Amino acid sequence: MKTAVFSTREYDRKFLDEANRKFKHELTYHAESLHRTTATMAAGCPAVCAFVDDQLDGPTLATLAAGGTRLIALRSAGFNNVDLASAEKLKMTVMRVPAYSPEAVAEHAVALMLALNRNTHHAYNRVREGNFDLNGLVGFNIAGKTVGIVGTGKIGAALAQIMKGFGCSLLGYDKYHSPACLALGIRYVELADLLKESDIVSLHCPLLPDTKHLINAKTIKLMKRGSMLINTARGALIDTHAVIEALKERDHLSYLGIDVYEEEGPLFFADLSSTIIQDDAFERLTTFPNVVITGHQGFLTREALTQIAEITLSNISDFESGRQKSENLVKSNN
Ligand code: NAD
Repeated sequence: MKTAVFSTREYDRKFLDEANRKFKHELTYHAESLHRTTATMAAGCPAVCAFVDDQLDGPTLATLAAGGTRLIALRSAGFNNVDLASAEKLKMTVMRVPAYSPEAVAEHAVALMLALNRNTHHAYNRVREGNFDLNGLVGFNIAGKTVGIVGTGKIGAALAQIMKGFGCSLLGYDKYHSPACLALGIRYVELADLLKESDIVSLHCPLLPDTKHLINAKTIKLMKRGSMLINTARGALIDTHAVIEALKERDHLSYLGIDVYEEEGPLFFADLSSTIIQDDAFERLTTFPNVVITGHQGFLTREALTQIAEITLSNISDFESGRQKSENLVKSNN
């Protein structure tokens, strides 16, 4: 099927081209992100493939529909960037990749924890400059600590498995109690109790109206002194300004590791190293010694990219043949 693929980087093209040897779709790659003005680039393509920071709002979807697009094939699990009510009105089908290597994201959350707790980001720079002084690098053991997992779905459960191996006590907050997590000994509690009791809090729930700014000035005050907050889910789960204030006060929050940022759209997935970044809140975050930020790369492993490419292309084939897998359908209109 003729498909316009937006927000593509070299690695997207490599893994999609490899998978497409089997599916044989007609893929047109665009480096540009998808939004109201770039939507016309998809004219004549019945399928559009989009990623996490593409803006599939009402006007964008209307332009796509006017150009003949009937399928939005997301190469992501999250679909908070799609206006589903508009997709419904325009009779467009929306498909996603509900699961691809949850271990990739869970392992990245652990990478952030380990960088923060052992000051690896500082040690790396010191050693490169011939500075072998250890002052200021004192860390803490993860073994024996309490890890609170908010959202114990596929990624949360993969994290629970890893942290169990580290010798941690596990707390969970989710209305659905995962049998896999219960088997690992997780104790489900209310969010307030999880925040009060956890040394490390890791967010793995979707961004929904009721999870926006789940971590805010009020909930941060519930967190344990010296605790660590990790977010590899979606940026807007955290109120950035509240977190900046908390980091300045050094009262409740002592470490922050994020792979996602609430205003990441204009920043992430591009080389802005020779420009002046206008986002002052983001720039403030980069100045803290106890903050580690990565640019939404939790999914970026060979294994995950292979699965994303194969499932995305099979979703397009399924749409073409009218046999969509229900678990991959966000909105059906075929
Ligand atoms: P999932 O659907 O398997 O699990 C999400 C869990 O969150 C479910 O168990 C659900 O019951 C729970 N949940 C829903 N609302 C909640 C609430 N208000 N409070 C607590 N829990 C709630 O999803 P997943 O595959 O584990 O992915 C989790 C999130 O990770 C995704 O929504 C996505 O935003 C993010 N993600 C990030 C990357 C990355 O590269 N950084 C990659 C993939 C996914």
